[in-house]
Amino acid sequence: MQVGQEKIVVLGTGGTIAGLATSAADSRDYLAAQKPVAELMTGLAAPSGFALLSEQVAQIDSKDMDLAVWRKLLQRCVHWLAQADVQGLVITHGTDTLEETAFLLQTVLAPRKPVVLTCAMRPANAADADGPQNLRDALAVAATAGAQGVLAVCAGRILGALDVQKVHSSRLDAFSAGEAGDIGRVQQGRVERQRDWPQPRVPQEMLLEVLLTAPALPRVEIVLSHAAACGATVDALVDPAVATRYGAPPVRGLVLAGTGGGTVHHELEAALRRAQAAGVRVLRSTRCADGFLQPRPNEEFPVAAGLSPVKARLALMLELLR
Ligand code: ASP
Repeated sequence: MQVGQEKIVVLGTGGTIAGLATSAADSRDYLAAQKPVAELMTGLAAPSGFALLSEQVAQIDSKDMDLAVWRKLLQRCVHWLAQADVQGLVITHGTDTLEETAFLLQTVLAPRKPVVLTCAMRPANAADADGPQNLRDALAVAATAGAQGVLAVCAGRILGALDVQKVHSSRLDAFSAGEAGDIGRVQQGRVERQRDWPQPRVPQEMLLEVLLTAPALPRVEIVLSHAAACGATVDALVDPAVATRYGAPPVRGLVLAGTGGGTVHHELEAALRRAQAAGVRVLRSTRCADGFLQPRPNEEFPVAAGLSPVKARLALMLELLR
């Protein structure tokens, strides 16, 4: 590395991209989060003009993502983004909760440099592993002049943090940006942009500080509306005696994953009303993968505009933390 050379830093957090299968021929039987990020980068060419650095922030299956890992990741992102010679970051991450981490990083850091999450659907030692190409594509995006904001790169597609959602359980092209559409794509190492990069908003410095020091995240649960729903589920969730019995903090918020346009079974609606009257915040989203809910005036349960249930849950947690 030459003195003063611009850098791209790759932060490893685990996932299938770092997974190892028992046999290279069967990519279904594997353990996620086995290979160190430095090894994932072995033999990978740095984008021209840049030096590559890597750091292992965590080594987890992202289904188990928690506040401790998010904190460490936020801290390392803040550290590296502040270095003048760092052009951008790449984060290797499991696909399962990638959209939640992306949403959190964009909301809290709103970076003016690119922070590119990438992943894989097949383990690192699979004969047809998709991780190396995804990592090369992510590096190409991170090296792109003018790129900014938190992005996800998978299967040659570039998706914005607020839009990205895992929509397929096994396909290599597992993500969608819904109606917002992709930001662009990477083809043969060339980045082709179709939409603007995510706009940097005001970084939430106070929120970052609270997030880094709070003993826990406020407890917010997701309630799915469906046929033949039963309001007792919500009553039990918000009953402080139940929380105490299980040593859990009381529920401070509920996100409704409603049917269609955010509608809710009348039994659940009555229970949500009881919860709201008891001081629990209720936010409405839809269980549909596509389409936006439009807020209307004087709504009983406010809409989490444009957010999926998991992102609405994070948004409400962050709001309660503020
Ligand atoms: N369970 C894995 C994870 O999210 C799945 C993946 O990475 O594709 O870490």
